[in-house]
Amino acid sequence: MPESIELTKEETGLARTLDGARVAEEIKREVREKVALLAERSGVRPCLAAVRVGDDPASAVYVGNKVRTSEELGIRSEHHALPAEISGEELLALVESLNIRDDVDGILVQLPLPAQIDERQVLWAIDPAKDVDGFHPVNVGKLSLCQKTLVPCTPAGIIKLLERNKIAIGGAYACVVGRSHIVGRPLAQLLLQRDATVTICHSRTRDLASVTREADILIAAIGRTGFIRGEHIKRGAAVVDVGINKVADEAEARELFGSEAEKRIETIRRRGYTLVGDVHPVEADRVAAWRTPVPGGVGLLTVAMLMKNTLQAAIERRGIEINF
Ligand code: NDP
Repeated sequence: MPESIELTKEETGLARTLDGARVAEEIKREVREKVALLAERSGVRPCLAAVRVGDDPASAVYVGNKVRTSEELGIRSEHHALPAEISGEELLALVESLNIRDDVDGILVQLPLPAQIDERQVLWAIDPAKDVDGFHPVNVGKLSLCQKTLVPCTPAGIIKLLERNKIAIGGAYACVVGRSHIVGRPLAQLLLQRDATVTICHSRTRDLASVTREADILIAAIGRTGFIRGEHIKRGAAVVDVGINKVADEAEARELFGSEAEKRIETIRRRGYTLVGDVHPVEADRVAAWRTPVPGGVGLLTVAMLMKNTLQAAIERRGIEINF
């Protein structure tokens, strides 16, 4: 872990919150209005089919949120909960049945899948026109060719968050730490499309801080608690924290949250853990101009963008000509 930089008291508390909750609510409101208009003008109600395998509690919560949010916005939803011991063939048969059903517009298969199932085979079996997670190679290819497509929800949400907070992307130097297919790589494509100069960092990057410290926009999608510290951040940068990590240790929470730690410690005592991002909050707030909170940042946008993708899939695959 790199050492953090020395900061004076006057420099504390500079960062403003990049409020994911507000932007997510805006997007959901827009989707709700458009879903209502679609029903009124063409009689179509979009439908999202969510598939979950096994009893992973986190997956159950994620899918539950997605299904509930769909219903709130007027999108029909189906929740297919399958036993952990299901075979790959059985899961593929379900995906195929959803592919051919005309009333289903979006299909999402919640990851991770149990070890006996080939994740890639399942994701690649989804009809690209219904691939609301944007993981199918056809959609990945279209994204890299700058063609309109279904874009992975977390990176798409991060772009909305930056744009709606009027953080200039064009001409900015953006650094993405993490190169996963779900977050880092598609996000780098989206930033590049918007004329940022983009660097992608990963576990083999040498002297990470010297690279990240140049960035006007720094995005952390690593999966390591408080890994991005003051010394990684340029003064005045916008810092987007994608990470979702559990902290159960009260001393660690105190170190991460300083004077704000009491609420977190209460949460640890009540729930057994508190959620923390990849960015060290106290240190980041002393250096950055903007920071997304965890929770309440990127995670909420991911669900909102899934709703937007479902609406988009419904309109495009049905060839509906509609001007909202
Ligand atoms: P992955 O594990 O797939 O990728 C992590 C990336 O971080 C890899 O590219 C890895 O590098 C890089 N990395 C690991 N250690 C270091 C290091 N020491 N220095 C620099 N880079 C490093 O994770 P995901 O992209 O799926 O997720 C990242 C985080 O975001 C997780 O905490 C996840 O829970 C969260 N997440 C949150 C979402 C939300 O909606 N808020 C949605 C999706 C994810 P390498 O490739 O070299 O191994």
